[in-house]
Amino acid sequence: MDFFSEIIGETVILGLDSLILGFCVKQLSKCKHILNALQSAPVLDIDSTLNKEINKYPSQVIPYVVIRGLVKPLGNPITSNYNQSVTGVIQRLTIKEHVIARTSAGFWSDQTRTIHEVFNSTPFVLSNGKYNIEVVDALAAELLDLDVISDKFEPMSPGVIDHVWGFFSGVRQRGLQTMEEMLRDGSYITAIGELSRSSSGLKIQPPRDGLPLYLTTATKSSLLKRLASSRDFLRVLIVVFGTVAALASARVLYKYMKKRRRREAEQLMKKQLAAGRRERRANTRDKNLSEVQLCVVCTENPKEIILLPCGHVCLCEDCSENIKDKCPICRERIESRAPAFIT
Ligand SMILES: [Zn+2]
Ligand SMILES: [Zn+2]
Repeated sequence: MDFFSEIIGETVILGLDSLILGFCVKQLSKCKHILNALQSAPVLDIDSTLNKEINKYPSQVIPYVVIRGLVKPLGNPITSNYNQSVTGVIQRLTIKEHVIARTSAGFWSDQTRTIHEVFNSTPFVLSNGKYNIEVVDALAAELLDLDVISDKFEPMSPGVIDHVWGFFSGVRQRGLQTMEEMLRDGSYITAIGELSRSSSGLKIQPPRDGLPLYLTTATKSSLLKRLASSRDFLRVLIVVFGTVAALASARVLYKYMKKRRRREAEQLMKKQLAAGRRERRANTRDKNLSEVQLCVVCTENPKEIILLPCGHVCLCEDCSENIKDKCPICRERIESRAPAFIT
């Protein structure tokens, strides 16, 4: 059996495993980077000291900063579609389809698919009464905590045809979920991002060196805890997938060594058998031969083999083993050979 087909299982496992492992390693380094940046990020109040604080940094940019304040729209706020008394600065409307789908393993499982998602936003600031910081590019936030304003589920009542169709297609409709979430006007949130000067004052925005912008109701310490636990989880995953990779590689190596040892043993045996045959032939050969009766290659042993289709009898059995493709007399391709008995 070809070596590759022997290790195809291990190769597939190793391929998938290294993809996952690579992803985990990348996530871990990202997680550590954020964790370090967040740990050293200063927590600043929105007040008159902020102006002095920002002057201490090169080109008046604080690369990563934690600021808490009240959400205040700069213009007219967005009014909720479902509750007229609720206003906010970011609105997310989602429609999700709930289905029961047959998995590849043949089981039916609940699944949700987002059919439609819309964001609306209006410029806003984080405020502390007198002082404001504008939040730029809020929708780019990696963590955006929104309040659920409305969450409705409309179940579908399937008919007989739907049941039959569902059985064959593997998807049964359960219903539609319509959801409205908002970052409410006046909510108290933590913004973590890059603080710099803008034309009208100060602004916070997504940092430049790949760090995420957070707009969250969580505090710095609870965010740190969350990041630390995902870092620990990633470490566990890396150990698990790393072990799988090591085991699969060890198995490939073991199979390769086994195969090599087997091949070496086979070759040794072949050589020994060939040597034995040569010796036996040498003992039975007629020693007193005329020149025309001798093999044209070694001119030592008698001619013993007929080459086909050309029909030349010109080789001894020993030399015939080494001449693979063409007749040494007429250069025609050798398709088969047979022992020749000259009496
Ligand atoms: Zn010969
Ligand atoms: Zn020939």
